[in-house]
Amino acid sequence: MTVATPDPKFRDSRERWADALMGNYGVPPLTFVRGSGTELFDDTGKRYLDFLCGLAVTGLGHAHPRVAAALTEQASTLLHVSNLFVTEPQLEVAERLDALVRSGTGQATPGRVLFQNSGAEANEAALKLARKYHGRGRHGVVAAFRSFHGRTLATLAATGQPEKHEPFQPLPEGFRHAAWNDVAAFEAVLDPSVGAILLEPLQGEGGVNPADVDFLRGIRRLCDERGILLIMDEIQTGLGRTGEWFGFHHAGITADIVTVAKALGNGVPIGAVWATADVASAFGPGDHGSTFAGQPLAAAAAREVLQVMVEIDVPLLARERGAELTVLLEAVPGVADVRGLGLLLAAELRPEALNGRTAAEVARACLEAGLVVNAVTPTALRLAPPFTVSGEELVEGVEILAGVMAAGSAGEDS
Ligand SMILES: *Cc1c(COP(=O)(O)O)cnc(C)c1O
Repeated sequence: MTVATPDPKFRDSRERWADALMGNYGVPPLTFVRGSGTELFDDTGKRYLDFLCGLAVTGLGHAHPRVAAALTEQASTLLHVSNLFVTEPQLEVAERLDALVRSGTGQATPGRVLFQNSGAEANEAALKLARKYHGRGRHGVVAAFRSFHGRTLATLAATGQPEKHEPFQPLPEGFRHAAWNDVAAFEAVLDPSVGAILLEPLQGEGGVNPADVDFLRGIRRLCDERGILLIMDEIQTGLGRTGEWFGFHHAGITADIVTVAKALGNGVPIGAVWATADVASAFGPGDHGSTFAGQPLAAAAAREVLQVMVEIDVPLLARERGAELTVLLEAVPGVADVRGLGLLLAAELRPEALNGRTAAEVARACLEAGLVVNAVTPTALRLAPPFTVSGEELVEGVEILAGVMAAGSAGEDS
């Protein structure tokens, strides 16, 4: 029997996508083929400004020449031997990550790192580490409502969005949730079964909601009083994004476990778990593992990413560019207010400027006008441009948004 294979040239790529891929993302609006710095180009050659960075991933911009060179060199040197052997790139990434996590915290004793391939895997490993550390009976974890920690079964259970749980019940047990930025609410749900509190320092997916400094300090105090581990999920916020190397640094606290992923490879998949030496010692041979984790290609990318990030001082860039972007956004008539930290911002849109549209529809109109952003709530857009964004690009991007807002707001013809 012969099966006719349609010539892909004559089929729209969205149609092919819908036939070939599962429907969990919905059919994406367009196809990107290349990028450079803040710019992206689609398959018709149209140019876009990327103020989303693939969800806070490509912080150094697209096609960074030094990251590309590091990848090319590693690809022709050594790609993979497994974690049964030492490979050099991951050693250097682990040492540098440890220094950055402890920078400014007064923690003199080095911690240790475990590599993973993604954010959810890093959180999954952190949860297993906390369980192993405390032992059976103290496996409970408290996380915040509206948090996002990943899509695996355990990280989904940790995610404080009950509507996401329903189709996948029963989930691993032991997870409970408390109100964001409310120390008393966390205290109220603690009992002797709780071994860890898991928090983002700024809820990214939940709407770009920064933690109050007093909230983080209060949680740290609670953890100290009760011997509970504090796990900071820095997957979206870590590595300079909020204007400090890590979001929890804003509160001047220490963490027992820290997870990172998104920006670490500038687009190459890699995640990591950092833990204090005491907590890290809970994992012995055979307790956890992953074939690809920390493999030379991903680690070579991360090594160069961290080197560039330190050289150009990404936390400082995030503070400076973030302050500029905030001022520009606040001047847009349709923007009610701007929240967030560093270069991880949300613009809350005025109802009259939305004029019946959702923020997702506004984001879609921005895309058509050449600006990539996304909606984090029905009324707010998230903006996370690369650290390397120029002042002119910030102005250009906000002009696109202003045009989209004006074109659809009440009282306009179009
Ligand atoms: C993106 C994200 C995750 C999940 O990371 P994946 O790489 O998508 O698995 C977990 N926590 C936070 C805070 C995130 O932003």
